[in-house]
Amino acid sequence: MEILKNYIGGSWIESKEKNTIDIVNPASLDILGKVPFGVKTNEDVQVAVDVASKAYLEWKEVPVMKRVQPLYQLKRLLEENAEDIAKTITEECGKTIGESRGELQRAIENVEVACGTPMLIQSEFSENIAGGIDEFMIRQPLGVCACISPFNFPGMIPFWFLPYAIACGNTFILKPSEKVPLTMMKVFKLIDQLEGLPKGVVNLVHGGKETVDGLLEHKKVKAISFVGSTNVAKYIYSKGAAHGKRVQAQGGAKNPVVILPDADLEMSVKIITDSVYGCAGQRCLAASNVITVGDDGKIKDAIYEAAKARSTGYGLDENVEMGPVINGESRARIENHIAKGVDEGANLLLDGRNLKVSGFESGNFVGPTIIQNPPFNGKTVHTEIFGPVMSLIDLATVDDALEFVNRSNYGNMACLFTSSGANARKFRNQANVGNVGINIGVAAPMAQFPFSGWNDSFFGDLHGQGHHAIEFFTQTKVVIERWPKEWSRKF
Ligand code: NAD
Repeated sequence: MEILKNYIGGSWIESKEKNTIDIVNPASLDILGKVPFGVKTNEDVQVAVDVASKAYLEWKEVPVMKRVQPLYQLKRLLEENAEDIAKTITEECGKTIGESRGELQRAIENVEVACGTPMLIQSEFSENIAGGIDEFMIRQPLGVCACISPFNFPGMIPFWFLPYAIACGNTFILKPSEKVPLTMMKVFKLIDQLEGLPKGVVNLVHGGKETVDGLLEHKKVKAISFVGSTNVAKYIYSKGAAHGKRVQAQGGAKNPVVILPDADLEMSVKIITDSVYGCAGQRCLAASNVITVGDDGKIKDAIYEAAKARSTGYGLDENVEMGPVINGESRARIENHIAKGVDEGANLLLDGRNLKVSGFESGNFVGPTIIQNPPFNGKTVHTEIFGPVMSLIDLATVDDALEFVNRSNYGNMACLFTSSGANARKFRNQANVGNVGINIGVAAPMAQFPFSGWNDSFFGDLHGQGHHAIEFFTQTKVVIERWPKEWSRKF
C-alpha cells in the first residue's frame, strides 16, 4: 500500500514521520493509500520552509508576465487530466462524479483569473502631489505562504490561493486534508511537469495538527490561508496572528434559504433541494435551514417529494445524485443530530438514517432528511450538521424570515426565492451574511469575486479569490520621490 510522499523542492520525499493513517473510500471503505500523520511531520515542515524560502529569493525577481506562464500550462494540464482527477475526488471524498467535475472546473477558473495577475497587480501613481514630488504604490510579494485545506473540496479549495500566491511572486506550501490527500498528489504530478516554475516554488507537506502547528510557528512563513471548521479557523487565526502572520481563515456555516409564496415553485424546490443535498450536504454553502413564508403546505409537500426521490449511492455511478458522507464518525455525528432534533420536539418528516446501499452495505451513507419545525433556540437550527439534513420552518412574514436569518452566528450565505424585486433588494441589503443568492441556491462567488464569508464563517480581512487574493498575497510599498531640477546635468 502506497505511503504518500511530500513534494518539496521539486522532488518526492519520504516523510520523517513513520506513523500513517489510512485514506479510505467512503462508499466502499476500501483503503486507497496511507498518509503520514504524527509529531515528526513538523520536521518535514522545517525542510519545506527552508526550501521555499530559498526559492523565494529567485522567484520574486522573475517578471510577473513570466511568473504566470506556468499557470497557462497548468490550466491545460488540468483540463487534459480532468476526468482522472475528478475520479480521484469521488473515490476519496465520496461526492458524485458530476460534482467532482464541477469542482475541478471551479479550480481551473481560479487559474485563469490568476493568469491576469500582470493586470491585477498594477498599482497607483500620483504625479506632483507636492511641488516636484511624485508618489506611487507598488505591490511586492510576502515570502513563503501556506495553505491548509479541508476535506470537502480537495480539488478546488487549494486553487483559491495557490495560483494567486505564486503569480504574485511568493512561494507556497500546501497541507491538504489528511482525509483526502490523493487529489492533490495527482495535481502535484502535473505541477512537477511545468516549465518555468523553479523547484521549491510550490511544495506539499502531508499531516494533521502537527504539520499545521509547524507552519503557524515558523517565522519564515509569512501568510496562512485556511479553510475548515470554525473552531479550527479561530485557532489558526489567533495562533497565526500571535506569530506575526497575515491570516485568512474561512470557517463553517449554517446557511438559511427563504422561499416566498410568489417564488416559482418548481424551480425553487429543485434548486433548494440541490443546495441541501448536493455533496451530501458537505458544502460550506449548503442550504440547511429552509424557511417558507406563509406556506399552505404546497411548498412543504413539493420539497418532501423532491428530497425523497433523490437517489443515493456510489458517486462513480453516473445516475447517482448523492454520495456518502466522508467517514463513519461523520455519519454517526449526523445521525445523532437527527435524533437530537426529534428530542428537541421537531417532526422528522423524512429520515435518512440507517440507509443501506446495495453493493456498498458498509458505506457511510445517510439519506436525505427533513426535520420539520425544530425549535428556534435548539441545536438543530444553530449547529452546522454538515450532512444531508434540512430543517424546514414556516414563518408568517418576510420580516420574520429576515430576523431568523440574522439570528445566526455564522454568515457564509443566505438565499431568497421570490419574484418580487422589492423583497429581493431588502433581503440583499439586510441579510447579515457575506454571500447572498437571489433565486440561487449555492451563492458561490466565481473566481473573479472574493469568497465573502462573514461573522463566524470568516476570520481575517481579505478573502480568497480575485482582487482580494492579489491584495492578500502582496504587501504595499509607497514611494515618495523628489528629483530637484538643479541636480540635473545640463546637456
Ligand atoms: P477541519 O477544520 O476539521 O480541517 C481542516 C484542516 O485543518 C485540515 O487540513 C486538518 O488537517 C486541519 N486541522 C484539523 N484540526 C486541526 C487542529 N486542531 N489544529 C490544526 N489543524 C487542524 O475541517 P474539515 O472537516 O476538513 O472540513 C469541513 C469544514 O470546513 C466545515 O465546517 C465546512 O463548513 C468548512 N468549510 C468552509 C469553507 C468556507 O469557504 N468557509 C469551505 C469549505 C469547507
